[in-house]
Amino acid sequence: MVLEEEKMTVSKELLEILACPKCKGDLEYVSDDRGEVLICRPCALVYLVKEGIPVMLIEEALSLEKWETGETV
Ligand SMILES: [Zn+2]
Repeated sequence: MVLEEEKMTVSKELLEILACPKCKGDLEYVSDDRGEVLICRPCALVYLVKEGIPVMLIEEALSLEKWETGETV
């Protein structure tokens, strides 16, 4: 059985496996017109998804504040 949402390039299965590299917590998937990101609210970090591949690196992550004010990489 394959569960797939067309607009999502990051599968739910993958999302369940992924955790914040900093706090090992759950990530929130957000897809908007700027693209897809995975957000860790406790760390206030936004991990970018590049070409469907989440970049799970703390040093590559944006701060949540910057991301919410519209700043992108
Ligand atoms: Zn975290």
